Amino acid sequence: MQLPSPDELLPDVVPASEHGISRSRIDAKVRQILARLHGAAFEAYLVGGCVRDLLLGRAPKDFDVATSARPDEVRALFPRSRLIGRRFRLAHVRAGREVFEVATFRGAHPAAAAGPAGMLLHDNVYGTREEDAVRRDFTVNALYYDDRDGSVLDFTGGMADLREGSIRAIGDPAVRYREDPVRMLRAVRFAAKLGFRIEEVTEAPIFDLAPLLEGVPSARLFEEVLKLFQNGHAQESLRGLDRYDLLPRLYPETADSVRRDPRGRALLERALANTDRRIAEDLPVSPGFLVAAFLWGPVRNLADGFREEGRARSRSEALGAAADEALALQAKRTSMPRRWSAMARDIWTMQPRLENRRPRRVDLTIAHPRFRAAYDFLCLRAEAGEPLGERAAWWTEAQGDREGASDSAETRGGRRRRRRRAHRRNRAA
Ligand code: ATP
Ligand code: MG
Repeated sequence: MQLPSPDELLPDVVPASEHGISRSRIDAKVRQILARLHGAAFEAYLVGGCVRDLLLGRAPKDFDVATSARPDEVRALFPRSRLIGRRFRLAHVRAGREVFEVATFRGAHPAAAAGPAGMLLHDNVYGTREEDAVRRDFTVNALYYDDRDGSVLDFTGGMADLREGSIRAIGDPAVRYREDPVRMLRAVRFAAKLGFRIEEVTEAPIFDLAPLLEGVPSARLFEEVLKLFQNGHAQESLRGLDRYDLLPRLYPETADSVRRDPRGRALLERALANTDRRIAEDLPVSPGFLVAAFLWGPVRNLADGFREEGRARSRSEALGAAADEALALQAKRTSMPRRWSAMARDIWTMQPRLENRRPRRVDLTIAHPRFRAAYDFLCLRAEAGEPLGERAAWWTEAQGDREGASDSAETRGGRRRRRRRAHRRNRAA
């Protein structure tokens, strides 16, 4: 899509009576933030995912504000705010216990901001509302809600795309992907989350430009992978990645292993189905568990190899060595905080203990801080077709027995407290 230059852009103004966003669905605190910015004669709008989700009748994840006020002006207006971000400098404004993102309109970047292959290195040039709209990624993400009269401003045809269920890039998609290759993953994520299609012109360059993802810093890629698989639509996200053959760019060894072994694919599908279900039920999901599921195929293959070559004395030792190798290799693509790689490693290396037909020190195993995750993983393997159903059932029963035994010694309240604590730990984890 060829857009006119920002200074020729006139928005379609959709009045409140037409779009059906009810004010009652907008957080009262963010409305106060907007009102204070307006009171100080700045422009200010709700923008991005929240406007999109409100228009679709969904509950927004968070409410983001775009304003003509510069970060230091925002800072001066809100005593409970601080400036964050290097790539994007913006303000976090605290209201009650919530924090809202207030970002200054961004402008077109000078050519100097682009690195090799057209990638944007920084993006801190301020601009007008119109410029801010056209540097956003997709039309459905570039709608502005004006709380003064309840209207929605549409500079890029986002309203029509929302109605049609299309993810459409703003401007030339190839240029936009070169600026920021992560936008390819974002397209897949929004299509999965909203049940939309990536419009033809927008999807066409993805096949050729996918290799650019290899130039994205590995920590950012990990963040993006989490967003793909912890948004409640992980299975759909995986299908989207398959469609554009993007999995090999994120998890090369995994992609290779599931191609060769249908059981590996089954385990991944199961893990993602469970993740989606847990999120629908508002239960915690741990990135460490997802990492364990994604890399299980490669880890098991490596471990088998070590055993055959006689490089490890036990399966557990082989799994430990395989874990280190697989995690180090994966870190080049998506580098994760240590606590997640450590969790995945523990889950894998505990498997032989749980597979064992004559387990020793059952109480100690169950009391292990990673037991629950390792047990869930054993169940996952059983569900995915490994002959472990009987073992999983045995451990389910062993936990029941143990709870029963401790019941006589402790009050039920004590147990419940412990459970709650464990629950909170998982959430924090
Ligand atoms: P979600 O509901 O998942 O949070 P979102 O649309 O709010 O979706 P964010 O990542 O929170 O997505 O980004 C907020 C907004 O900032 C987007 O709607 C989009 O307008 C803009 N944006 C974010 N990342 C990019 C990017 N890489 N390139 C261009 N615009 C972006
Ligand atoms: Mg958002």
